[in-house]
Amino acid sequence: MMPLSRIFGDVLKLFYPTSCEACGDELLGNENWLCISCWIAMPKTNFHLQHPNPVEQRFFGRIPIQHASSMYYFNKDTRIQEVLHALKYKNKKEIGIELGRRFGHELLDCEWIREIDVVIPIPLSKQKLKSRGYNQSECIAKGLSEILQIPIDTGSVLRRKNTKSQTSMSVAQRIENVKDAFDVPISASLLGKHVLLVDDVLTTGSTLESCAREILKAPDTKISLLTLAYAIE
Ligand SMILES: [Zn+2]
Repeated sequence: MMPLSRIFGDVLKLFYPTSCEACGDELLGNENWLCISCWIAMPKTNFHLQHPNPVEQRFFGRIPIQHASSMYYFNKDTRIQEVLHALKYKNKKEIGIELGRRFGHELLDCEWIREIDVVIPIPLSKQKLKSRGYNQSECIAKGLSEILQIPIDTGSVLRRKNTKSQTSMSVAQRIENVKDAFDVPISASLLGKHVLLVDDVLTTGSTLESCAREILKAPDTKISLLTLAYAIE
């Protein structure tokens, strides 16, 4: 007869991956999602230690932002791309939560993080949410919320249109694509709050800008931004 621990281990393997999402090497018992060498090699920006930093500068002259940061540099054909691909297209929600937790730990020493009232992930349209089954930004936001002990709000901001994929668009096209994409139906819920908007990757910032604009229509609100990855333009 098979020992119970072996059966339990095999059942666990059904739910948790046994190979590294970035390099494919087999994971050791104490490793989660990525092997230790891949976790170490993930390219941290440490932008949260600089003010102003390149993320904040990307929004200069566009919308008033209190603070902003990204955890990793986004480079194509690297570990971070593999990880984000797994989170977005391979149903690996847990990796997003784990990345959010790790980002949360990095941010614990930031004074400004204590000013935040609520964490809001960039919402998906109903149609997109239905086809993917989950919102990848909400996974990151959950991990952040857990470590920073700040409540998460997924009901106050809605995405009213299903915007097209922006990967091959120019900056002007991206701005047009996300214009009026978001809605804050009951702005009273955000009244006077400092909102931390969360997204997976920062490229031109047009999606975050469009969403932040809508939130800032609620009286006396402030916005800070976090993204997991930062794409160099
Ligand atoms: Zn690895």
